[in-house]
Amino acid sequence: MKNQKKLRIEDLGEFGFIARFSRDFLKRLPAGVTGIGDDCAVIPWKGRKKLLVTTDLLIDGVHFLKERISARDLGYKSLAVNLSDIAAMGGSPRWAFLSIAIPAETEVSWLDEFFRGWRQLAARTGVELLGGDTTKSRAGLVINVAVLGEADGTHIKYRSSARPGDIVAVTDNLGDSEGGLRLILRGEEKSRTKPEGKYLISRHYRPHPHLEEGRFLAGQPEVRAMMDVSDGIDSDLRRIMERSGCGVMVFLEQLPISPALKKCAGRFNWNLEEVAAAGGEDYCLLLTVAPEKFTGLAEKFFRRFGRPLPAIGQITDEKGQLRYFRNGHQVVLEKSGYDHFKHG
Ligand code: ADP
Ligand code: MG
Repeated sequence: MKNQKKLRIEDLGEFGFIARFSRDFLKRLPAGVTGIGDDCAVIPWKGRKKLLVTTDLLIDGVHFLKERISARDLGYKSLAVNLSDIAAMGGSPRWAFLSIAIPAETEVSWLDEFFRGWRQLAARTGVELLGGDTTKSRAGLVINVAVLGEADGTHIKYRSSARPGDIVAVTDNLGDSEGGLRLILRGEEKSRTKPEGKYLISRHYRPHPHLEEGRFLAGQPEVRAMMDVSDGIDSDLRRIMERSGCGVMVFLEQLPISPALKKCAGRFNWNLEEVAAAGGEDYCLLLTVAPEKFTGLAEKFFRRFGRPLPAIGQITDEKGQLRYFRNGHQVVLEKSGYDHFKHG
């Protein structure tokens, strides 16, 4: 109709768009295959073993700033973000494919450094590069990585298994990566001279995929749903709510925040709750646990990893309701998590 504005992807948002096209594809899947909607696709393989597949796209100006990030860190991070999705299923990464579109003027030494960063993490995690594609780009650097991994089928954790009453927990502090990004965007890389600045920036550039934690947690029957924190818990909890048909209460005073982030937030007047709940790219794990087993699990986790397993909330039966509380009072969080088409 004339004058009627056509629906744009920015109106739907990233997740509205995925929901719109994926329905049709999900209907056709054979039994036992998990397709669109979790951190990895899960495909039946050898006996109890399942094949895990995940892919991520990184674009200059959207996911990184080529002029700021070192080639070595970018090589490391391109692989790390994919390994984090394997960790979220409780799997072990094995093989990778790397496709790059490169502006013609890119220096070969820059690419050598990119592969150095990649190899550092690949060697440590046992991932072999098996293929990919290389082309020229007329519009900046574009990187696509796909990783295949394996998992014991009886131990895989999905986003869809949360139940009302479950305790929601995370495997690390929240907001460090967003803090690091804010320092970088403020041109505060000189903050690297201060230990807290250096720490936050390294948390942004060199996220640590929680592979060991993922495998350990996947082996615990009391862990119900699990995913990795890539867009910030505000956005990621909504994915668990959609897949599990539930709601969540988050207790803001329980969000684990590093001393470094507290220090920088004080200096630059950041809203700590917003940074911790809506900041992306922490790449730790977000899980839900049967409530009566949570204390025991947190103790086991502490014995194994030497750090706590902070509880940050609880699953409710209020479908689609993500509610925040501060010291027992419900509050509205100022900002929601990252959506590619809803943020500039
Ligand atoms: P993650 O952050 O763990 O990579 P997302 O939450 O971004 O996952 O994506 C949700 C789901 O949508 C995933 O299963 C992902 O594979 C799928 N997905 C995203 N974009 C596309 C696409 N263009 N085509 C098919 N599946 C997609
Ligand atoms: Mg993920």
